[in-house]
Amino acid sequence: MFYADIKDIEKWEGINSYLLKNGINTVCREAFCPNMCECYANNTATFLILGKVCTRNCTFCCIDKGIPEKVDVEEPKKIAEYVKRLGLKYAVITSVTRDDLPDEGSNQFARVIDEIKKMDKHIAVEVLIPDFHGRKDLLDNVLRSGPDVVGHNIETVERLYREVRPKAVYKRSLEVLCYIKQKGFITKSGIMLGLGETKDEVKRTIDDLCKYGCDILTIGQYLQPDYRYHDVVRYVPLDEFEYYKNYANDIGIKYVLSLPRVRSSYRAFEIYNLVKGG
Ligand code: SF4
Ligand code: SF4
Repeated sequence: MFYADIKDIEKWEGINSYLLKNGINTVCREAFCPNMCECYANNTATFLILGKVCTRNCTFCCIDKGIPEKVDVEEPKKIAEYVKRLGLKYAVITSVTRDDLPDEGSNQFARVIDEIKKMDKHIAVEVLIPDFHGRKDLLDNVLRSGPDVVGHNIETVERLYREVRPKAVYKRSLEVLCYIKQKGFITKSGIMLGLGETKDEVKRTIDDLCKYGCDILTIGQYLQPDYRYHDVVRYVPLDEFEYYKNYANDIGIKYVLSLPRVRSSYRAFEIYNLVKGG
């Protein structure tokens, strides 16, 4: 059971109304993240850029699907101003997948990073990016701006891709991580549990992530947004989360957050500090 402090709720309301008024989207709100009160109370949010409508159709995700909006050219400035206003030292940026755009939105990521770094080069920026169809030129657009952590979620085990991430390709996602790692960046990925995967499949996925250069791994419990989305096949017990954490540590992924409520941006600044501290 999760209890929120009344002060956290008030802070959440304040931040939420500012974001809504200024047309800034967060994945926290759009994906009904269960950690919103805690994260907003700690001045943390994950900005969702490039609109609120996705061109893909992952069956676990409640973000709207369909024809996306026009790209907001003011968005990078608006986000940078908000980061400054809250005095954030760490900003997490993600997006819907924009297969409709020639650059798939990669330049907007770069513009947001540039604006934040221009304002204060000490602010660390983590980006959680789509696969850009594995195109290195598009990945380079993002990497050129110097993000501090680059995440791309594998989300689930290979066997479930067709029913969970029908427009994504397991191997391609691994190759995206591998490319980012080869370019010298800190890499991050996430797995959701409870979609019907077996224990062996999860271990194999962790093996693959390790092999392809994943530095930080998050593992959390999938929650069904409502009846239209993929069923929760299983609520995974706590000791199993602990088991995967130890397994990943043992094979060489040093930084692992594995708990039911973990999402890829959960406590991202803390993890980043751990990585930087060695
Ligand atoms: Fe937002 Fe991430 Fe926190 Fe969820 S865990 S509320 S998505 S910052
Ligand atoms: Fe949701 Fe991302 Fe899948 Fe789009 S690509 S449907 S935003 S998880």
